[in-house]
Amino acid sequence: MPAAVADPVPGLAPPGLQRYASHPGQSRGRRYAEPPAPTRSEFQRDRDRVIHSTAFRRLVYKTQVFLNHEGDLFRTRLTHSLEVAQLGRSIARSLGLNEDLVEAVSLAHDLGHTPFGHAGQDALNACLKETAPPAAAAETARPCSSPRLAGFEHNLQSLRVIDELEERYPSFNGLNLSFETREGVLKHCSRANAQWLEEREPGGVGYRFLAGQSPSLEAQLCNLADEIAYNAHDIDDGVRSGLLTLEQMEGVDLFDAFRREALAEHPELRGRRLLFESIRRMLSAQVYDVIAASQRAIHHAGVSSADEVRASHVLVRFSDGMRQRSAELKRFLMANLYRHAQVQETTERARRVVRDLFQAYLADPALLGKAGGSDEDLQPDEALRLRVTDHIAGMTDRYALREHERVTGERLFA
Ligand code: MG
Repeated sequence: MPAAVADPVPGLAPPGLQRYASHPGQSRGRRYAEPPAPTRSEFQRDRDRVIHSTAFRRLVYKTQVFLNHEGDLFRTRLTHSLEVAQLGRSIARSLGLNEDLVEAVSLAHDLGHTPFGHAGQDALNACLKETAPPAAAAETARPCSSPRLAGFEHNLQSLRVIDELEERYPSFNGLNLSFETREGVLKHCSRANAQWLEEREPGGVGYRFLAGQSPSLEAQLCNLADEIAYNAHDIDDGVRSGLLTLEQMEGVDLFDAFRREALAEHPELRGRRLLFESIRRMLSAQVYDVIAASQRAIHHAGVSSADEVRASHVLVRFSDGMRQRSAELKRFLMANLYRHAQVQETTERARRVVRDLFQAYLADPALLGKAGGSDEDLQPDEALRLRVTDHIAGMTDRYALREHERVTGERLFA
């Protein structure tokens, strides 16, 4: 591997950063210029801003897979984000990447998630699609029909939270985070939305989706750490909930290899300790696999700056074998946990909460009170759809349930 380089702004770059890492002294900057912080790098500052944001505190009451009130020990969006940050930082240190940037992106990556996990997101997406005027539905970007309102993308909403919706500073909306953190938060983006972003911020965070470029290695890493985290914790939560059994998990190669390894060393292990030990070993093996496979890919690509990384294909990756085994685990979780009849039944009710709220607010905007921001370049009906979307997307599970009861008089969850 190439040697670490000194940062152009001495003292604020973490030690051990490789040339291909994101160097805070070479940041592409913030949307609104601010003087540097005396003791923190730009990415440390981003991380701190995320932690102090309102949207971050809401994550504690937002569903990952299991609804918040179903049990105290299931993952929430908050604990999920912390686990992504932990895995990401750990891999970043081994690869000589910027841990502060990885932490900032990891903690912010789900800020735009709706209540009720994917059920809430799917419902909000459907509501927007059903109420979209024809031009927006056809994904043609016109000044007054934003492609944002043709459907819901939680990554784009996360960007909207950090760029627009947080109200913390005297002279600008949002958290005014650095380009690199915003780039990492916008993991995916449709072409229509990327064009819309590009019109507003030429060469900004939408550009790579149009140019077919990659994000920084730190952003690539957060993407993979997200997947590693949820695969592992969804096994744990699945078994804890009783919807999955350890015996069922024996059919999944990736998990079973480590279950057998754990039993070979500790033949007396049973139950939860066997589950934890298998997951722990599986996580470690995935982390070591990503480090080795990414080191090989980075070396092979010969990249020596963050800009060369952006022009290259994705370099933070699993080995082929691990990618296949991880994909098998994902398919297993999809078929046996996310589509489990009991999960489906609760998520169906969660969908109704979101649909009912969306329709009620559209029919009677007074119900919104002062909630939701506005965009000046939108027609009034679209401005209302945006306000409703922002308001619902920002809700915690329990706030959404209280609001649903207030608005409809119905209680869908005991
Ligand atoms: Mg996530």
